[in-house]
Amino acid sequence: MTRRLNLECLRCGHKWVARRKRKKKDIRQCPKCKSAWWDTPRPNESAFVQTEEPALKAIVSEDPLPIPDKPPEAPPAVKPAISIIDSSGRLYPVWQWQIDEWSFRYPEVDVMYQLQMIKSISASKPAKRKDAKELLRFIESKLEQRAEVLKGGVL
Ligand SMILES: [Zn+2]
Repeated sequence: MTRRLNLECLRCGHKWVARRKRKKKDIRQCPKCKSAWWDTPRPNESAFVQTEEPALKAIVSEDPLPIPDKPPEAPPAVKPAISIIDSSGRLYPVWQWQIDEWSFRYPEVDVMYQLQMIKSISASKPAKRKDAKELLRFIESKLEQRAEVLKGGVL
């Protein structure tokens, strides 16, 4: 029976096939680089493999991060971009991601300026304060109004 051994040199990467009646231990050297250590990886290479493999496995087995349909409502460590006092006297937080979203929706509107106007009016005129539940809708209607005015070219 003719053995067919697929061999690879661990020193130079050369691949070859030994077709004669040979055993792996009889292969004395790599036909390309002539290394007698062709079946022994270099010590530093095996160290490299040992440190690389767990990291690769970790990447492969890592579940993809779930993509939230909207950013977290109120991450405790993050300060709101602006706070508006509501009709109950509490501070209603407006987050940067909301401002980014409105800026994207109404590119012509200075969203932060509009929010500061609402904040200022709410702070100085208690009668103008909105219920926390309606504040978001109020802000959006203000921004929409402002966008309409700017589109119409009216100041
Ligand atoms: Zn070789």
